[in-house]
Amino acid sequence: MSPRTYRPNPPRSLPNKAKSPARSPSQSSSPPPPPRQLGELPAQPPRKQLTYLKQTRATAISSSEQTIDPIRRQRIAEQILGPVDWESQTRGHFPCPGASRHTSNSTTDATVFLNFVVPTVKCYHKSCAREVDKLNRRLRSRISRAEAINQPHYQPQTPRIVQQPVQVAEQNRTVDRWRQTFLAAIASPIDPRQLYRESPTALPFRIDDDRCLFLQLFTPADRIWIGDLTDTGEWSFKPISDLIKSSKLRGPFICPATFKDSATRRQQTEVLHRRFLVVESDELSTRQHAALLMALSKEWSLAAIVSTGGKSLHGWFRWVPDWETKAGLLALKARLEIMKCDVASITSSQPFRLPGVLNQTTLRYQALIYLDLAHSYNAI
Ligand SMILES: [Zn+2]
Repeated sequence: MSPRTYRPNPPRSLPNKAKSPARSPSQSSSPPPPPRQLGELPAQPPRKQLTYLKQTRATAISSSEQTIDPIRRQRIAEQILGPVDWESQTRGHFPCPGASRHTSNSTTDATVFLNFVVPTVKCYHKSCAREVDKLNRRLRSRISRAEAINQPHYQPQTPRIVQQPVQVAEQNRTVDRWRQTFLAAIASPIDPRQLYRESPTALPFRIDDDRCLFLQLFTPADRIWIGDLTDTGEWSFKPISDLIKSSKLRGPFICPATFKDSATRRQQTEVLHRRFLVVESDELSTRQHAALLMALSKEWSLAAIVSTGGKSLHGWFRWVPDWETKAGLLALKARLEIMKCDVASITSSQPFRLPGVLNQTTLRYQALIYLDLAHSYNAI
């Protein structure tokens, strides 16, 4: 399949009538929506289409709560196991922590399997069983905690931040304020479906079109990485201007940073500019997370919310230059911890799901549910 002709399939759960509005007999009298011009903001769809939009986006958003999210699992696995060489989304190799006990030197690698309900680390050798057991316990506990149904009365712990005795009182006040904001937000969960009705930039009729629209958050000259998790090489890096024109926008992942002209690998040292901070949470429900993102939007510039097609939301906030400083970064980490959000998402080369693409794991669309192009790097 050539990238030019690639089009993801429509979501499976579309009602028949809406599957193909242009060809449906009941709507044959009305012309199909005109192709959207690049750079042009989508008009609010007509009423009939709005119903369709609601249904399809609602489908994209509403999550099968039992779905295994391999990306989240991979991230947790790497936090516990260290760097993993992923052979697929759910299977990877890493150095066995008990390798020094191995009786034969044939291989020092252990394998992690994330596709099972109970994620599992296995090593070919028997002599390292204790280390492997320990890893399995930690991995399973972290993943089950992350996938557990959320506790509504959860009280976050105070994170360990900073240091100078004179600043402690002030910091405590700040931390208290963060915690109060967080608890107030998750006490009033929001249905994510409500957010796309209130999206400042109207969302396109076709979820496919989310991709190009979303990329307008960057500048045309920004060179970004787009592709599958293990994709490397020059062709994975493209300026936004090319991507928007060429429709070679396969995703399913994108980095919220730009890369140097010389970059051929998605790694931190190759990052040129931070563009966005993506706020995601393994532990909050989607409704709590939606409420948290809206609360944060009063302090930070919320550019987009993406439904991952699994059971989580990603809030894309404009990167704040202050976060580049050591103190700023430390404070940001502390705040993310308080909010039960993923601290790993601070890593600049971290990939996230591109909206407008089918999530091949869940067969649901990765979709925009909120967009504010006023926070685009193109906007003044
Ligand atoms: Zn071993």
